[in-house]
Amino acid sequence: MSSTAQSLNPLPELNPSRRLLLGPGPSMVHPRVLKAMSTPLIGHLDPEFLVIMDEIQESLRWLFRTTNTLTLPISGTGSAAMEAAIVNLVEPGDQVIVGVNGVFGSRMASMVERCGGRAIRVEIPWGKPIEPERIEQQLQTCQPVKAVAIVHAETSTGTLQPLDSIGQLCQQHKALFIVDAVTSLAGMEVNVDDWHIDACYSATQKCMSCPPGVAPLTFSENAVAHIRNRKSSCTSWYLDCSLISDYWNGTTRTYHHTAPISMAYALRESLRLIQEEGLEARIVRHQRNIQALIAGLRTFGFEFLPTIPYQLTTLLCVTLPSFIDDLKVRKALLNDFHIEIGGGLGSLAGKVWRIGLMGESSREEHVLTLLSALERLLSRETDVPTLGTSIQSALESFQQSNNFK
Ligand SMILES: *Cc1c(COP(=O)(O)O)cnc(C)c1O
Repeated sequence: MSSTAQSLNPLPELNPSRRLLLGPGPSMVHPRVLKAMSTPLIGHLDPEFLVIMDEIQESLRWLFRTTNTLTLPISGTGSAAMEAAIVNLVEPGDQVIVGVNGVFGSRMASMVERCGGRAIRVEIPWGKPIEPERIEQQLQTCQPVKAVAIVHAETSTGTLQPLDSIGQLCQQHKALFIVDAVTSLAGMEVNVDDWHIDACYSATQKCMSCPPGVAPLTFSENAVAHIRNRKSSCTSWYLDCSLISDYWNGTTRTYHHTAPISMAYALRESLRLIQEEGLEARIVRHQRNIQALIAGLRTFGFEFLPTIPYQLTTLLCVTLPSFIDDLKVRKALLNDFHIEIGGGLGSLAGKVWRIGLMGESSREEHVLTLLSALERLLSRETDVPTLGTSIQSALESFQQSNNFK
């Protein structure tokens, strides 16, 4: 044994602080999901595990609103599912139109290029949605176009991208439609079949309120045909869905890589929670809680990045008034109140906060806790309302949405 190995003291017991996670992910996890993760393992080819796989796939189809056979959790986080969608569909030389109005659109474009594809970036100012005409223009001038890749809910700016007309354009021009639904699935409406989406992926740690580690992905029959008819083999072995589907297809069950068993348990339990609540009710809960948060934050003089119809109901991008010291307040929220919210990414660093109310984080009590913590912290500054004002506004908002029930 080396001397360093001999002198190493055992690690202390793991004991992270309890946090209220109100950032851009991970979100709060339901205790039932944590309990499911501690269930004893069975093998990834155990007949009982195969049943669990079937249940997960059926539930994911329900959640994505699709009949797609190839619907499965990718082993990895949302970026792994993003990469799986792209690396399976894009071959060297393929042209892909990518909507870029934030960090995640850029990430997709960079993945297209790493697969040897040509990314045609449709650049839009951050915080604005992409007009379908801009996509149409590129579809008309750049043929052949293999795919159009769009982020549904841009987590870096809180912007919602309407998708149905872009899906129709893709159909007309015979381009595949790739959609990032990481911050929308299980929190906002996502309609894979009705919106003509060919590849859609998400992540578990956002609106599904499950720890990060597996990532839902679905491919249309048309996308599957493209995968089968590739001229070159997929450049990623690990993410090659023609191989992975031999394990997930329900018949051959050929070993590809060991399924992350405990994450499958967690995903199953989080899907069960979503089913018990009902998708519609869950979407309404997200709307209601974000409205109350907006009402509360307005009393501080905060404004929000996208204009109203394009605001996500899962994540709010708050532009900071000049009297607020971004780092100081976020640090105090974490240290004094154990609340995590997100800062700005890229060009928005220091200018915005990103407050996520996703899945289990989207609760009335969390909205009120955050507002009261902000009142306490900001009461030291000038220009802020008297204590209780933001809470009052949030409560009125809850009251109003209750009247509409
Ligand atoms: C979080 C996120 C991702 C990446 O997911 P990871 O789990 O961090 O890899 C991709 N797209 C969007 C829109 C996201 O919000």
